[in-house]
Amino acid sequence: MNNYSIAIIGGGIAGSASALRAAQNGLDTIWFLGSKQTRKRSRSQWVANVDNMIGLHDGIVKDQVTKVLKKNKLGEAAEIVEKSHFDINNRLIIKNTVERIQAGYPNVRIIEEEISSIEKIDDNFLLKSPDNNYNSESVVLATGVMDEQPFIIKPDKTGNPVESEKWIYPFANREQVLYCIRCEGHLTRDEVVAIIGYSNIAAELAMMLHERFGVKGYILANGKPIDISEERRTLLHHYDIEIVENPITDIISDGAKQLHGFSFDTRDDILVRFALVSLGLFRVYNDLARQVGARLMDEGLPDEKRHIWINHKSESSVHNFFVVGDAVKREDEPVMKQIYTAQEYAVRAVDTIDNRRRKVLRDNILDNKKPQ
Ligand SMILES: Cc1cc2nc3c(=O)[nH]c(=O)nc-3n(C[C@H](O)[C@H](O)[C@H](O)COP(=O)(O)OP(=O)(O)OC[C@H]3O[C@@H](n4cnc5c(N)ncnc54)[C@H](O)[C@@H]3O)c2cc1C
Repeated sequence: MNNYSIAIIGGGIAGSASALRAAQNGLDTIWFLGSKQTRKRSRSQWVANVDNMIGLHDGIVKDQVTKVLKKNKLGEAAEIVEKSHFDINNRLIIKNTVERIQAGYPNVRIIEEEISSIEKIDDNFLLKSPDNNYNSESVVLATGVMDEQPFIIKPDKTGNPVESEKWIYPFANREQVLYCIRCEGHLTRDEVVAIIGYSNIAAELAMMLHERFGVKGYILANGKPIDISEERRTLLHHYDIEIVENPITDIISDGAKQLHGFSFDTRDDILVRFALVSLGLFRVYNDLARQVGARLMDEGLPDEKRHIWINHKSESSVHNFFVVGDAVKREDEPVMKQIYTAQEYAVRAVDTIDNRRRKVLRDNILDNKKPQ
């Protein structure tokens, strides 16, 4: 069984950022990307196009590519490139990171496995996948979270109504059903939007979209008991945002291509350009953190919905067990489930591991030099 300086668990954005940092710091690393199953339930799969970050934009590459094409007298090709849009999404970012690491960093071993258990034994962590065991001095956990999905009743191909969350997926994949106000909220400028939710948080998001972008809209409780304060109800009324209690009975769309709205049994259809899901989290993938006894946040919630506590170095309450990405919460700042925060937490974690490893190297040298 090999012994690594750092084991990174998770092949999402936070895992990728950690792996690249570990690769570039020269750390002896093992990176677990997860399995088909864990990948399917990860948030990275849902991101269609990232456009809330400077630098991550197709314009930068297009500019350079068209210059090269024009220089080589390939004007027609340059025109095609200029007119095209190239989505940049998490899947592409992760694939590119894996390829870069495979091509240039032999200090990183990449494994497509899910880690099913973890144990701290003295100063080491023993990690088990269904088929193998691994040993590491430190761990960076980056297993993410999953959003609660709306269950919608919709007729299937035979006309029978089926209640499922699967009806929403095609529109989520096309960035018409949104999940992240900081990442995708700007798309809704001047549009009509349905916020699917029933809580004060849903009300806050609806108000925020109206105040920022003039969004008109609805809060669709989809049959759930509404839990929105009087003060917020007054503001929503002022902003002309209607709260609709009725269960959704159909999605109005062009097949799976374009969302147009929602139907209900006892009221008129609602036509919208976007829907934003605000139902909270279905899961925080904190199982491995719980196995090593790491402290959790969000007291009062069921364990599987609690974020993992970290400090400013992204370290959990367990020494050398770091957690990064969407699964964490800090006491001193609001939750920031974003690509750039995942990267920042990742760099803090891996640099701390690197600092500790190098300190041990130096201490050993100085110890050996001491007069006996
Ligand atoms: C629809 C949508 C759009 C978004 N758009 C943007 C955007 O435009 N800009 C932005 O900044 N942010 C955006 N976000 C947020 C961003 O995608 C997340 O912050 C980011 O994906 C979090 O990365 P993560 O690595 O923590 O988790 P994830 O991306 O969810 O990755 C978790 C990884 O862990 C793996 N895993 C899980 N369990 C195990 C296990 N036991 N062993 C091994 N591996 C395991 C999974 O396979 C997966 O690879 C968006 C989110 C959503 C849902």
